[in-house]
Amino acid sequence: MSFSADIITLFPELFPGPLGASVLGRGMGEGLWSLRATQLRDFATDRHRTVDDTPSGGGAGMVLKPDILARAIDTVAPQHDPRPRILMSPRGVPLTQARAHELAVGPGAVIVCGRFEGVDQRVIDARGLEEISIGDYVLAGGEVAAMVLLEAVVRLIPGVLGALDSRDEESFENGLLEYPHYTRPQVFEGHDIPAVLTSGDHKKIAKWRHEQALELTQQRRPDLLARPHGEPVEPRGRAR
Ligand code: SAH
Repeated sequence: MSFSADIITLFPELFPGPLGASVLGRGMGEGLWSLRATQLRDFATDRHRTVDDTPSGGGAGMVLKPDILARAIDTVAPQHDPRPRILMSPRGVPLTQARAHELAVGPGAVIVCGRFEGVDQRVIDARGLEEISIGDYVLAGGEVAAMVLLEAVVRLIPGVLGALDSRDEESFENGLLEYPHYTRPQVFEGHDIPAVLTSGDHKKIAKWRHEQALELTQQRRPDLLARPHGEPVEPRGRAR
């Protein structure tokens, strides 16, 4: 069974968007993964197709109604559906490469995109929505966040990226940022490719790359190195 993503959104026309391009789009065409975007408004029950209401207790903005959203979730993913139910949310657990790996080996995901002030807490609790954030800033809606999540996950599905082994050295995979890359021309605006990379000595190249990765990480993300026993930032293959 291939990875199947369901998106619940007020803007289904935004999908697949960037997820339909390049290797991800090709993977979709090959049936390695699938995507369906469902219009939340289709589950409204009144004449005006209302999906939101004013916040209880007062305040600015509108809140997505729990009854409408629950109906959408239950229709897209009935109770026995094994896929995790995710809500994109700035209050969520920050997305990591580790969570992306876990999702990529699973059956897929049902992803709710919030809008306005957010979602009634009762539907988050009642449907066990896992809140995931893509960073410490606030977007206007969950759609772009859902695309970020899916892009990170889908490229890890076996067969989606051609060169499998290019992944192991990527940023975050081994607790380090990636080393710098170079390609031809040999001289660019007076700057040479570092000689070691054209030396043909693979041991020396590997050592140089590791040193560069360490140095970059030290400079830019010392928090990644502050982990006990040089543990990878993201333990791989953790069962969930
Ligand atoms: N009032 C909320 C923000 C609502 S933004 C708060 O202060 O927490 C509207 C919607 O955009 C959210 O419901 C969520 O689905 C999405 N969103 C905004 N920022 C996000 C982020 N950093 N990560 C994931 N989703 C985000």
